[in-house]
Amino acid sequence: MIMEQTMPKDGKFDLMTLPYAPDALEPVISANTLSYHHGKHLQTYVNNLNAALPGSGLEGKPLEEVVLHAQKGMLNNAGQILNHNLYFSQFMPPKADNAPTGRLAEAIAAEFGSFEDFKSAFEGAGATLFGSGWVWLCADEEGVLHITQEPNASNPILHGMRPLMTMDVWEHAYYLDYQNRRPAHLAALWQIIDWDVVSKRYLNE
Ligand code: MN
Repeated sequence: MIMEQTMPKDGKFDLMTLPYAPDALEPVISANTLSYHHGKHLQTYVNNLNAALPGSGLEGKPLEEVVLHAQKGMLNNAGQILNHNLYFSQFMPPKADNAPTGRLAEAIAAEFGSFEDFKSAFEGAGATLFGSGWVWLCADEEGVLHITQEPNASNPILHGMRPLMTMDVWEHAYYLDYQNRRPAHLAALWQIIDWDVVSKRYLNE
């Protein structure tokens, strides 16, 4: 079940490196939003977790192990790092008619009816999640796909599920570009989902 394990170096976690230029996701996510979201918000979670690790009994453990075993304050920071690492690494520059292919596309059609039906259900889950949190496409132990709403810093691994793709519905993810229009932000994100990355997570590659 463990995937994309992130190991600390010398007892500390690093801020993940973005796999694209800061303006590569425009106009869906501006360079300004990205600089705050990655460079400030995520950096703060990393700093907080690194400060809390000594003496916790979780020093030197991979990030997913920390998420699975941490107490609440540490769990919030570790969960947010895992969530953001999966989030930022699933994007690519905007592409028209962007859609999954292969076995993941077949599984989405089998579970949700069609890719369009899946997108509607996913956007609905994002629009109705009250407060701050994350919407996930995830897979259970049989590989069946699910859409989950996770509050605050939660991640599907806390329910035994494998996280595949996510949308961050904390206001810091969209407020500079979309203000209160969370549904418009979610609808735009489909243009920048790197389905090759999501497929690899689904196929455990
Ligand atoms: Mn965020």
